[in-house]
Amino acid sequence: MSEFARPFDDSYWRNRIQSVFAELRELSGDGVGVTRPSYGRAETLGLDHIAELAAEGGLSVGRDPAANLVVTLAGSDPSLPVVATGSHMDSVPHGGNYDGAAGIVAGLVCLLRMKSEGEAPQHTIRLYGLRGEESAWFGKAYLGSLALFGELTLHDMGRPHRDTQLPLRHYLEELGADVARIGRGDRLVEPASIAAYYELHIEQGPSMVARRVPVAVVTGIRGNIRHFRVLCRGATGHSGAVPRWLRHDPVFALADLLTRLDEHWEKLQGQGVDLVITSGVVQTNAAEHTLTRIPGEIAFSLDIRSQSQQTLDDFYQLLQDECAIVRRNRGVEFEFDEKILTPPGEIAPELKRRLVGICEELQVPYIEIPSGAGHDAAVFANCGVPSAMIFIRNEHGSHNPQEKMDLDDFILGTEVLYAALSREAKCASSRST
Ligand SMILES: [Zn+2]
Repeated sequence: MSEFARPFDDSYWRNRIQSVFAELRELSGDGVGVTRPSYGRAETLGLDHIAELAAEGGLSVGRDPAANLVVTLAGSDPSLPVVATGSHMDSVPHGGNYDGAAGIVAGLVCLLRMKSEGEAPQHTIRLYGLRGEESAWFGKAYLGSLALFGELTLHDMGRPHRDTQLPLRHYLEELGADVARIGRGDRLVEPASIAAYYELHIEQGPSMVARRVPVAVVTGIRGNIRHFRVLCRGATGHSGAVPRWLRHDPVFALADLLTRLDEHWEKLQGQGVDLVITSGVVQTNAAEHTLTRIPGEIAFSLDIRSQSQQTLDDFYQLLQDECAIVRRNRGVEFEFDEKILTPPGEIAPELKRRLVGICEELQVPYIEIPSGAGHDAAVFANCGVPSAMIFIRNEHGSHNPQEKMDLDDFILGTEVLYAALSREAKCASSRST
């Protein structure tokens, strides 16, 4: 800990922050963790609660035409582009209290503190409480931020809710969203009207816990290429009777393919290339597979992620080349389903530098890491808003009730966010070291 005063570390803010998280947990507890369905009641209750606290603190509160919460601290020069922060309120079923909500609470206390300090920033500062970030509910992620930039399609609005099967459109209408406008692809906000977007989020992987740092500055948000189902077809046979040279064994073919991909991965990683590969679903046909049978086919999924589109494209080509070799060597066929691409989210270098500079200055221990998971910040970035992210250490991963974020870590990260927002908005105030 440095000798610098940390305003969020005094008992007033500590208590406030703790109680806001406790209240959010209360509003959406499910007995195990928290459940805040996208465009559902608990998500609305959470956003309404944040709105209430913001209004009590003298901030302006509203909802945009996609039913996202918008909290505003007016700047002294309304002609300047706004500085934005935010995150999502929804969670996966039986999720944790901090995934998403941490970024909204951080933004809220930053705006409340600036308001209480009395000097208006030059740029308006805006907090977004976004809806529908988790793909668990409608099969697609970032619904709230996509709607913001006119990127939510009619097809998306027809997506059925996982439990009720009612389309997303129904939920949007219930919340008073302007469905016609969203359906037309109207931008609810112009990217050029936002000077910068900073999102604070818990880390969802194990790196920061392993490296014992409370805060991270995100270097890039990994995009992905996915196939939900690739089929490798061979030829079925008796496990004892078919000699190796006459086999067309799809399981060995897949093992061969994954080993080849792993070798490339290891080599590329050694060259400093950002890449992760997962084959999370591997299935032989349960209706016919058995110990003594060479299976006729095997189905598997592929999730290839990188911060670089070029790496994704290059690795995808490598995958095709290796499939061709395995096909020839082992007499099997590969059948790919639809290729789904989510582009990487580029972190704005100048914003990242600002965050790094603030960490150095405030003596906040930090590392620089990529974000393996997707975030609304990637949507902002891909729509042309300069964007950056701050991660907070979090034990036990995310998307589960065991998420564990330390209040001290949150305070350090929020201090960094505060400094970034106030500098970006050029506060007349000079308190934030
Ligand atoms: Zn999240």
